[in-house]
Amino acid sequence: MKKVSIIVPFFNEARGVKKFLDGQLTPELELLNNKYKFEIVLVNDGSTDGTLMVIKGAEINRSENVKIISFVRNFGKEMALAAGIKYATGDAIIMIDADGQHPVEAIPKMLEKWENGARIVTTVRRRNKTKHKLGSALFYKIMRLLGNKNIVAGAMDFRLIDRMVADEYNRFTEHHRITRGLIDWLGYPQEYMLVDLKGRMYGSGTYDFRKLIALAGDSFISMSRTPLIIFGYVGVFIMVVSLLVGTFVLIEQYLMGDPMNLDWGAVAVMCVFISFLIGLVMVSQAVMASYIARVHIEKKNRPLYVIDKKETRGINV
Ligand code: UDP
Ligand code: MG
Repeated sequence: MKKVSIIVPFFNEARGVKKFLDGQLTPELELLNNKYKFEIVLVNDGSTDGTLMVIKGAEINRSENVKIISFVRNFGKEMALAAGIKYATGDAIIMIDADGQHPVEAIPKMLEKWENGARIVTTVRRRNKTKHKLGSALFYKIMRLLGNKNIVAGAMDFRLIDRMVADEYNRFTEHHRITRGLIDWLGYPQEYMLVDLKGRMYGSGTYDFRKLIALAGDSFISMSRTPLIIFGYVGVFIMVVSLLVGTFVLIEQYLMGDPMNLDWGAVAVMCVFISFLIGLVMVSQAVMASYIARVHIEKKNRPLYVIDKKETRGINV
């Protein structure tokens, strides 16, 4: 029987977590018990409100295929997912939020798509009930402008990944990471599935505006070098324009004795000169930035390549 791991990250979810685990997740998985063996990986991301006690007391914890990983302090959801993926042993891995927003009813369909060959099944929210609607629309716009063409708006962290994808994912060593960004980066074809995002059962999202901005910043910086290059081009543009204007002034005013009566003052000439220097500084910064970007890429130490299949004469090895 194939084994499926379910990864759930928790941070201060004491109020809703029992309802989620025993009331939503368990009944859904029970329907599939004759088809799959489930492993539940619960990652407690340094909760301070007794979430761990609640998890331990939950019905689900009586089954022996529950693993609880507890962080010593809060490291953030991305790290919780990283730990979950690392310790999960299933043939497929599904990650789902603990707050009841991700509909467990989608799980059978996700598994079906996996059985039909999908290595990644990504859910996409149908209706956007979150308060960050505008922000997220803007985020996707900018990401696309920055050259991440295949990013899908509304794609969620509620995903299924095949063992092969998980093994590749485990090779990432970078610290500032967006799980879905990295999974997208691996490049395996994905199946998308529309689901309804529900409201949070209790409390409000722990991702406040500040954290979201930081997350967006991480995505922009880690996924794209375009911003650096744009500044370089602006610098080149400024240099070229001031050089043209400067040359014009030199010829018109000083060589030809101002036949057009433009009467360039010393200040104007100085401005042209300074703009030229500013352009020069911007270009040299962009050059420097490309070295830093190189260091950044080397430091991230991403896998050099991602293997799709290994086969000899059509036989998997
Ligand atoms: N979470 C976590 N660590 C954190 C913040 C959140 O493990 O530092 C968990 C949280 O318990 C939930 C999931 O990540 O299971 C999504 O969090 P939240 O609902 O706050 O985010 P949103 O739905 O607003 O994206
Ligand atoms: Mg949530």
